Amino acid sequence: MGLVLERLKEKKLLVGDGAWGTMLQKSGLKVGECPEEWNVTHAREVRNIASLYARAGADIVLTNTFGGSFFKLKKYSLEARTRELNEAGARLSIEGAPGCLVAASVGPTGEFLAPLGGVAEEEMETAFTEQISALLEGGVRIIVIETMTAIEEALCAVKAAKKLDSSIDVVATMTFDPVPGGFKTMMGVDCARAVRELTDAGVDLLGSNCGNGIDQMIPITREIRGYTELPILIQSNAGSPELINGETVFRQSPEYMAERVGELVAAGADIVGGCCGTTPDHIAAIKKAVDSLS
Ligand SMILES: [Zn+2]
Repeated sequence: MGLVLERLKEKKLLVGDGAWGTMLQKSGLKVGECPEEWNVTHAREVRNIASLYARAGADIVLTNTFGGSFFKLKKYSLEARTRELNEAGARLSIEGAPGCLVAASVGPTGEFLAPLGGVAEEEMETAFTEQISALLEGGVRIIVIETMTAIEEALCAVKAAKKLDSSIDVVATMTFDPVPGGFKTMMGVDCARAVRELTDAGVDLLGSNCGNGIDQMIPITREIRGYTELPILIQSNAGSPELINGETVFRQSPEYMAERVGELVAAGADIVGGCCGTTPDHIAAIKKAVDSLS
């Protein structure tokens, strides 16, 4: 049994962390800067974000490696440092969040697979293998493949992780948009297909993150739960983004999100955290709500 499943057995419900991008920006990350480069240039700030989420009550804390694939780092001409930046990211969260389960974040590459795009499946899998092996080298035992919209890409990442070490926990969460009659990812994947293909690929947990506030995540969770017995991880945004004076803001308060945690859990969520716009205050409020349920 993997680490997350073991912890879930003990505690029944777990709390995830909140946004990293939001916290990096608050810590001074500028538009156009590579967030993962901060794992080396701003180690103290990155470690501190992990600590803030740990202190807020998160059971699972992610790493600052969301954009740590070869393809994403290439946009900053940092692709030669893929191993270094991922390994550093893993170590910083482990140091910053002792006692928490540290899970490595693996986000989309930003590339499309052939024939839609120019990247072959083997190439995509190789990129994930490079990133994930560096994360494992950094000491994590849980991989969270997140914000995925293309199922083929998510499957490349799951395969890469499972081939590297079949004993680690592999979590995959996809980002859905409301469409008439339900939800689909930007790439047209519905919940049923996501669950089926991710399960066939051997994920240990699955779910959804980003794209939606907690209100939309409730029906998404309910639908996913209808197709699976696997534990479900849900990380909602703090509402929908609004553009104010050229800045993207998320307005849902910690109290608002906390109020709806009960419904999210009733819909089938086993682990509740936050995505864009959520902060340690949101996680502290969610933690309180989760504690009151168990
Ligand atoms: Zn997000």
